Amino acid sequence: MKRFIFSLLALIPFLATAQYNPETFRTPVAKPVQRPEFVLPQVNGYNIYKTDLHTHSIYSDGEVTPAFRVREAFYDGLDAVAITEHIEYRRIEGKMLRFLKGYTDNKVVKAKNYNLIEKAADKTGILADLNYPVEEAVKEAKKYGILVIPGAEITREPVAIGHYNALFTKDNNAIYDADPLQSIRNARAQGALIQHNHPGWRRTSCAKTEFEKKAYAEGLIDGIEIANGGSLYMPIIERAREDNLFVAANTDIHPTTAEYYASKGQLRNMTLIFAKECTLESLREALEAKRSLAYSGGYISGGEQLLKDLFLASVKVELISTDKKGNKKFTLKNNSSFAYQIKTSKNANPMFLEPFQSLLLSMGNNDNYKVIVVNMLCGDNLNPVVEIPVK
Ligand SMILES: [Zn+2]
Ligand SMILES: [Zn+2]
Repeated sequence: MKRFIFSLLALIPFLATAQYNPETFRTPVAKPVQRPEFVLPQVNGYNIYKTDLHTHSIYSDGEVTPAFRVREAFYDGLDAVAITEHIEYRRIEGKMLRFLKGYTDNKVVKAKNYNLIEKAADKTGILADLNYPVEEAVKEAKKYGILVIPGAEITREPVAIGHYNALFTKDNNAIYDADPLQSIRNARAQGALIQHNHPGWRRTSCAKTEFEKKAYAEGLIDGIEIANGGSLYMPIIERAREDNLFVAANTDIHPTTAEYYASKGQLRNMTLIFAKECTLESLREALEAKRSLAYSGGYISGGEQLLKDLFLASVKVELISTDKKGNKKFTLKNNSSFAYQIKTSKNANPMFLEPFQSLLLSMGNNDNYKVIVVNMLCGDNLNPVVEIPVK
């Protein structure tokens, strides 16, 4: 008995440890942050990479660091993110210099040439290193396994001239010129692709301005944003087809995507790029070949054929029965994370084909089941019509 009591006493420190060791109680809340995976199928032998070709950080007028942009992109499920500071508008520079006044003999030094939208730079030019934000992002991206696309935004008066992202740039410091067309040429000369940003912003129409006509006629524009933030420019889908441009849906995020999208229960805008692999060379090749679609607010927009190919690759048909008259019963399964809305005729009610769920459907004696994909756009208020083989 004495030995038994002694043994019990010997256990007390262990029991006490078990009871009070905070590690024991931390386990249930220590679940790591999850990265949502937006699953899309392979299409025509290409993987679909989720990208954002337009973001800002504190090095222009964004509210977070480039390293934060990278982590945010990772936790939003992206594969690649472009860092594209405004070349001509770097609002935060003044704040940075004020913060550093102890290094300038307590004098508050004013930022020079930080706002060149209406007035050209003086002879000192742009003193900031516009490659630095990209370098900071690239360093962070190595820890997260995502890709950073180097870039910068040529930012001029928005109504007559507009904004243009130079993507896959080599030297952001070599882009600026007082003449906006020359700036675009400078970016092109170093091998950048040019994306026409938010083409309807602050305008009453999406029609081309005189400046745009010149830039397009010179062959300087490679792609265009169908969606930017909360704006969807439907007429631009047709322009992209007519002018053979890649399509994009980007966030142009200045605050955080948590505030702008997640808090509203939405996914951030994504440019879906159909490429062999997630490298700068491969994504660039895909954009040059115009293999992209624009995801925004539950809609996917772009070229009709690519939309149809994506839909057909996302769904799987399983035939259940065929009666004597040839009428068929079948299931249509959505093997993707995209929630499709389909209908069988213009005036029918849409059916919701949720991610990784099936619909039980029936049809007459036909080889194909024809659907209008309501939340895919191949033109201004135009939806693709897809024939799904049922056999
Ligand atoms: Zn812009
Ligand atoms: Zn922007």
